[in-house]
Amino acid sequence: MAHVVVLGAGLGGVIMAYEMKDQLGKDDRLTVITKGSSYCFVPSNPWVAVGWRQRDDIEVDLTRVMAKRDIALLTQGAARVHPAENRIELTDGESVSYDYLVIATGPDLAFDEIEGLGPEGHTQSVCHIDHALKAEQAFKALVANPGPVIIGAVQGASCFGPAYEFLFILETALRKARVRDRVPMTFVTSEPYIGHLGLDGVGDTKGLLESEMRAHHIKWITNAKVKSVEPAVMHVEEVNDDGTTKKMHDLPFAFSMMLPAFRGVPAVRGIEGLTNPRGFILVDKFQRNPTFRNVFAVGVGVAIPPMGPTPVPVGVPKTGFMIESMVTATAMNISSLLNGKEPAEVGTWNAVCLADFGDGGVAFVAQPQIPPRNVNWSSQGKWVHYAKIGFEKYFLRKIRMGKSEPFYERLALQALGIDKLKSTHPETGDVA
Ligand code: FAD
Repeated sequence: MAHVVVLGAGLGGVIMAYEMKDQLGKDDRLTVITKGSSYCFVPSNPWVAVGWRQRDDIEVDLTRVMAKRDIALLTQGAARVHPAENRIELTDGESVSYDYLVIATGPDLAFDEIEGLGPEGHTQSVCHIDHALKAEQAFKALVANPGPVIIGAVQGASCFGPAYEFLFILETALRKARVRDRVPMTFVTSEPYIGHLGLDGVGDTKGLLESEMRAHHIKWITNAKVKSVEPAVMHVEEVNDDGTTKKMHDLPFAFSMMLPAFRGVPAVRGIEGLTNPRGFILVDKFQRNPTFRNVFAVGVGVAIPPMGPTPVPVGVPKTGFMIESMVTATAMNISSLLNGKEPAEVGTWNAVCLADFGDGGVAFVAQPQIPPRNVNWSSQGKWVHYAKIGFEKYFLRKIRMGKSEPFYERLALQALGIDKLKSTHPETGDVA
């Protein structure tokens, strides 16, 4: 009779709960602790920011589906995790004890690290549905009163795909609104080159993305550090390969959306042995914390070292497919522990990404993440736009049904000739 707690109900946490439930016995208990009772599909936020989706389209109330699956749902959120006491302190002062904990709290958005950055400053964000809805208002103001646009990702960011995605979605939306001719666009990024993506490029992402930008009259600045943002001006330092200043830019803008750096959420940050200095959860290859052996972690909150030194710091992205592989490994490993066995399942952590451009898009698969790779593939076309819509519909259906099935991954990877789907037993090579 074990009590398993999943902390966080985003993309990783909800499917974690469903997969964990499938592994537990009838006397075991499963609790999900989250903030509020709804799930929101973050990858659709760029569409929300130009009015192509409304909140209702991408939000699911978890109350009924969790009850249907006999999963307890606590919606007040965690104030602090106390791993040495196997206890989570909630924001209302109550505590929840656990036998096993899976932390799936995603990123804390570090806007405060740059003066004037973020929705409380002068730039927009698509990282949260509330931010995306605010960005939609700013987008409408831009259409009414066109001016220069800056899109990009700041120093220390790890999530570059959505920055490119939003750049091209916005470009499409501005063309459809017939005001693109009055909107000069600049992409400002900490990446050392266009299409690096925190992965040192995948396939020809450099060529594909540069070519798309040229074709759409979008300028770019790489190796960029955003120094500060004022109401209509962004101050950017462009650096050389050795980190010295190449040029200072004072870029005027009427609309800007910049991806911030991520760090671990306050409820876990600064806990000795649990987190790294940025507050990301330390895990071994079984998704298990090396100090607190009954604590596991999945999703963006997991610590992954950067790919290698770059003139301006960039992080490694954690995408949905990779997160699903972490989830499956974690569910299997906790199940093994409950059955008196040692964890043996390892997530594949492959990077698979569909970046929609509104009327086209770029897709890539990196296996493994670090080059040289066995699969290093990228492609572009209208099919990516439809594949992303398919991904959204499929994933939201999965959340509403209370089931986690890796159906779409199987189809996509079969098409690409990738044999390992999610989690692989390190000795037998069996695919979970
Ligand atoms: P989240 O989905 O952010 O979930 C974390 C959850 O934890 C949230 O519900 C939060 O409220 C909760 N939480 C935080 N603190 C607490 C607390 N103290 N107590 C309780 N609950 C807490 N990946 C792809 O594969 N494809 C895409 O197209 C794609 N698009 C993206 C677009 C954007 C704009 C962004 C930002 C990311 C995108 N990603 C995409 C990357 C990644 O898949 C998503 O960020 C994904 O949502 C991460 O899942 P997660 O569970 O780690 O975090």
